[in-house]
Amino acid sequence: KTPSDFFFVEKEDVKEMIPRRTKFSHKGTFGHALLVAGSYGKMGASVLASKACLRSGVGLLTSHVPRLGYSIIQTAVPEAMVSIDEHDSIFTGIPDLTPFNAVGVGPGIGRKKNTCKALCDLIKQFRSPMVLDADALNILSENKELLRELPENSILTPHPGEFERLAGETADSWERIQVQRQMAKEFRVIVVLKGAFTSVALPDGRLFFNATGNPGMATAGSGDSLTGIILGLLAQRVCPEYAAIAGVFLHGLAGDIAAGRISENALIAGDITNCLGKAFLELK
Ligand code: AMP
Ligand code: MG
Repeated sequence: KTPSDFFFVEKEDVKEMIPRRTKFSHKGTFGHALLVAGSYGKMGASVLASKACLRSGVGLLTSHVPRLGYSIIQTAVPEAMVSIDEHDSIFTGIPDLTPFNAVGVGPGIGRKKNTCKALCDLIKQFRSPMVLDADALNILSENKELLRELPENSILTPHPGEFERLAGETADSWERIQVQRQMAKEFRVIVVLKGAFTSVALPDGRLFFNATGNPGMATAGSGDSLTGIILGLLAQRVCPEYAAIAGVFLHGLAGDIAAGRISENALIAGDITNCLGKAFLELK
């Protein structure tokens, strides 16, 4: 028997969650996101997530990168502004957070000691919902007390490996979604458990299953693009629940469009972002 607080996400629902652009909209209407991603050898994570964030309709994006990432991000993503860390190769300090109404952190940041410290400062200082992915989740796994400090309705986007590190081993997928729901309730956060049927657990106990997406998306950087999309929606003041649900749906739909054009085999993460435009059009 399926519990009554389980839902299946449909296109018609998602249409209502997408921000609309009216005639007199301006950049400020669509928010200013801060993305903290990338480190030496992993600047691609920053580039992929930044592009996805911009393609999701954010008004302004600032990407915080280590010094060595400066020309990389400026060249690859000219639309993004850059905040430069004092450190050459990793994330070690946060910029002034006043301008930002949403923050995303994690892809490719590694887990050096100074990075853990900076993430801790970021979590404590930013008091609105934020998106945490990849190494930010791995750092949380090693410092579980930080889970209680997360701003309410923050969005965590673990793949199964990251989820297991965070929540411990589970016997099967049924037990795993129970633990996922428990975690969402206990820490008042939104837990997006990624995979073939990504599930989104809300703090109120509801669980949403998504069916867009395909195995072509099992490729490097695919999750970084999801982080960018959810961050972009959140910055546009979409409520965190909808940002997570619609972000997952759009990411999968863009992946399906990309696979239709170039095959699941040839699909790479950047293709998902490149097909986001078509995904938005399908939701019109
Ligand atoms: P990551 O492991 O962080 O790069 O995230 C991988 C992304 O690709 C997640 O959004 C997954 O939901 C998606 N993905 C991976 N494998 C599949 C699959 N077999 N079917 C649908 N989506 C997938
Ligand atoms: Mg990932």
